[in-house]
Amino acid sequence: MIRSCSRMIPACNSVVAHALVRAASALLPTLGEPGRKRRREESRRGTHGLPRVLTLFFLACLSLFGESADWIWTARFVVTMNAGRRVIEHGAVAVRGERILAVGPRAVIEKRYQAKFRMDRPFGILLPGLIDTHTHAPMSLFRGIADDRRLQDWLQNYIFPAERKNVDREFVRWGTRLACLEMALSGTTTYTDMYYFEDTIAEVTKEAGLRGVLGQSLIGFPAPDNKTPAEALVATERYMQKFRNDPLIVPAVAPHSIYTVPEEYLKASRALADKYNAPLLIHLAETRAENDESLAKHHMTPVAFLESLGVLNGRTLGAHGVWLSDGDLRILKSHRTGLAHCPSSNSKLGSGVARVVDIRNAGIPMGVGSDGFAGSNNQASLFQEMDLAAKLQKVTRMDPTALPAPEALAMGTIDGARALGLEKEIGSLEPGKRADLIVLNLNQPRGVPIYDIYSEIVYALKSTDVSDVMVNGNPIVREHRMLTLDPRQIMGKAAEYQRRVQTSLQK
Ligand SMILES: [Zn+2]
Repeated sequence: MIRSCSRMIPACNSVVAHALVRAASALLPTLGEPGRKRRREESRRGTHGLPRVLTLFFLACLSLFGESADWIWTARFVVTMNAGRRVIEHGAVAVRGERILAVGPRAVIEKRYQAKFRMDRPFGILLPGLIDTHTHAPMSLFRGIADDRRLQDWLQNYIFPAERKNVDREFVRWGTRLACLEMALSGTTTYTDMYYFEDTIAEVTKEAGLRGVLGQSLIGFPAPDNKTPAEALVATERYMQKFRNDPLIVPAVAPHSIYTVPEEYLKASRALADKYNAPLLIHLAETRAENDESLAKHHMTPVAFLESLGVLNGRTLGAHGVWLSDGDLRILKSHRTGLAHCPSSNSKLGSGVARVVDIRNAGIPMGVGSDGFAGSNNQASLFQEMDLAAKLQKVTRMDPTALPAPEALAMGTIDGARALGLEKEIGSLEPGKRADLIVLNLNQPRGVPIYDIYSEIVYALKSTDVSDVMVNGNPIVREHRMLTLDPRQIMGKAAEYQRRVQTSLQK
């Protein structure tokens, strides 16, 4: 039984303002006759005593009550993930508007700031929101459609036909709603997507209140939204113009992979991304088959091939990076390419294990990605990805010291931000950054005892332990309840789509 430790106090600014008004009006009669006489005197002398008294009074009150904030969130532990990896016991975060004002010990923050609202979690861990660096959100409606198959078999014989018959704008809308619901309740505050009808995905992401790096897909065959890559390029530019200054959405260009997109469109994707200083998202070096085919066809690895086309000259995020040579690591480092490590997907599809320790040692920013909801993972818990990322490195290197818990948590937060080129905005709790916060509930059997906070987060806690979520200064989950979407309606629609998809595949 989890006891709620929530306390929502519509606090103090309005109370303070009323108190000041009351005090000021109480002060006026006390000036009384002598006061009026003095004011006349002062008025003659031009000193205006009453306004001065009131000004001094208000200034004294301000210094007494502190600067204004919108929110103060407090918790038993605040894990900042800043450069010094500061952890504050009995800590607090103050938020104003979209950004973090201050992070520090609770006593200090409460003395300095007066917040309109506050939330106290004396049994909680406050963390930066998690960052998923690779997903396909609308595919949530295909969850479990064809498991335990090879990637090419799964794609060619199940996913591509199912997409052809079912994916339209409404499918994408409801699939994204289902995905956003699952991600928000699991503590993901930013996700990175590659799919079709990405403008609709962006609309739903905003509706949910989540942050998204959302890439419109280009692929070399007729897709549900665009019949040719040329059409897709035009649609992508329109989409990028629409969302380029959005506070929650980073629009991106997403050529699917080197094996599904013709060279000229890989290059055109780079040019379009550069025009808007946007990231280019691409599946990269995922399977042995992709690697072998590239070697046979281009006499180069997938990474070297992309470099030869100039596609790595700019903000790029490659998903997977399982099959990378030492030479590939040098290329990726020199172009500051980011990578998304998807350990569940790579395990489930038998793709292999990325050389995460070598990649990190080479200085290549690498986050974790769930790789979506259908077939390759079936869920979107970054707690699972961080845990598995750490354990797979220990297995493949036969070394329990490989990728310790603090590094796995960095991959789910600040390193994910770095891989996306957003480390100045998100990924850690620091003044000036976007207010993307999550709270984990420790008031439960898995939450005690705590000898090491990072071990607790990475190896013990689960996505279901996320109790509260704020994105961009707005609370979107409170005590495990989604505030922005209607779960019952979304789950009902998912059941409806299941019947529709099953019928379509029987035809
Ligand atoms: Zn993928």
